[in-house]
Amino acid sequence: MALKTIARRAAVVGSGIAGLFSARVLSDYFGEVVLIDRDDIPAAPGTRSGVPQGNHFHALLPGGLNIGCDLFPGFADDLVAAGAVQCVGGRDFFVFRPEGKSYDLARFQPEPKPAGLIYFMSRGLLEHCIRRRVSSLPNVLTQYKSLVREPLTEGGRVTGVLLDGRERVAADLVIDATGRNARSIKWITTLGFEAPAESVVNCDFAYASAVLRPVDPNAIGGAGFFVFPKPEDNNVRGAYLVRVEGDIWLAGLGGRYEDHPPTDIGGWRDFGRSLAWPIWDELVSTAELVTDPVPFKFPRSVRRHFERLERFPEGLVPLGDAICHFNPLYGQGMSAAACQARALGDVLQRRARESRDLTGLALEFFPEAYEVTRTPWALAAAADFLDARTTGDFPTDELESLGMLQVLGALADTDPQAAQLITDIVTLARPLAALHESPWRERLAPSAATSTPS
Ligand SMILES: Cc1cc2nc3c(=O)[nH]c(=O)nc-3n(C[C@H](O)[C@H](O)[C@H](O)COP(=O)(O)OP(=O)(O)OC[C@H]3O[C@@H](n4cnc5c(N)ncnc54)[C@H](O)[C@@H]3O)c2cc1C
Repeated sequence: MALKTIARRAAVVGSGIAGLFSARVLSDYFGEVVLIDRDDIPAAPGTRSGVPQGNHFHALLPGGLNIGCDLFPGFADDLVAAGAVQCVGGRDFFVFRPEGKSYDLARFQPEPKPAGLIYFMSRGLLEHCIRRRVSSLPNVLTQYKSLVREPLTEGGRVTGVLLDGRERVAADLVIDATGRNARSIKWITTLGFEAPAESVVNCDFAYASAVLRPVDPNAIGGAGFFVFPKPEDNNVRGAYLVRVEGDIWLAGLGGRYEDHPPTDIGGWRDFGRSLAWPIWDELVSTAELVTDPVPFKFPRSVRRHFERLERFPEGLVPLGDAICHFNPLYGQGMSAAACQARALGDVLQRRARESRDLTGLALEFFPEAYEVTRTPWALAAAADFLDARTTGDFPTDELESLGMLQVLGALADTDPQAAQLITDIVTLARPLAALHESPWRERLAPSAATSTPS
């Protein structure tokens, strides 16, 4: 139900995670929201061609989960009812690191330290649960199997979209949630506006993932694990094995810097046998392969600096991967999309309160979107640049925070509050800016000033 209607209709192009969260937020301020996707979205959870990354493990970090639960009260219960595997962070998910088995992703933690609940499911199931909530909103309409060809424009402003079948959807605001390839870049340049500058991190990462049916789904000994490479051997091969809905396992191999996992079954299994730890291969060999391994190559993370633009077409706002997409290794994209959708909601709420219309909305939103993507971008880039083969733009503007984070990491072994803060930051539940609040700033800044992040 609308809180205070700012305008009549919004059209959201792309019904992925960013589009769905956006539609939820917009439904509070628009009489009607039309959610459009080129895919014929299946009624049941599944993979679809518009989101090829959906064949690979998608972890919803606490940062994104918290926003999901705020926007859709009871959302975590939906996930469980739909079959997601509920487990305890810090206990049921572990990482085989060079130092040994660890119960913490960010650092070596050999003993379990149970923390909050986390949920494992396929990307298809997660999207399905969000979509079901969004579709039940009375003022959200869906228009699937409809490719958006181009925007409708009038005097340099976007006034809707033109669909493949030549149908026109008029809208006061169009959200571009079309993902990494951001259709709106072409739209704005055609309208005579400047495209945003980009920062890139050439991380060269590739997945090959398959679905397995295990004899005993519990054989993992928890809900899942990662196998990390051994940097000392210059090894860049890693893996995941996770339990998802329906008592199945998702098994994936990852490689970098041209050492990509093969997708023929023999080559895939050989790659799995070459990992730093044998556990992945041992477990995979006990299960039945349901699908062939499917690849996904991710050459670079890209951040589009919309926040630097001084002019932008009225009636259009890009959001989600269209603004910033990250090396999938760190599981940040969906949470970053959720943070951006929430930031858009904050901007609209301010406008509704001040009885302002949509004029200048994009230029007001971009700095907020930049702010909420600073943490995932800096964390992913800093981790990627640990390997000298990564090239691109190091986030030098975040050097101080990254130095403070390193000092915090050293404190975390003995200080439970420091351990909690570092977990919150790497899972995007809190921003790097939390390091600059008292008492952390006083505790961390002096040592950080004398050390450079490595
Ligand atoms: C291999 C891989 C693994 C990942 N793992 C994780 C993870 O573990 N955790 C995590 O948080 N994130 C992960 N991500 C990132 C995550 O998939 C995205 O960040 C997230 O889905 C937000 O994307 P989006 O909604 O902006 O775009 P997308 O999810 O790509 O959705 C774009 C939508 O737009 C539609 N579309 C495109 N063009 C048109 C058009 N012209 N007309 C109509 N519709 C159109 C598409 O059909 C699609 O539905 C991963 C990414 C990859 C590549």
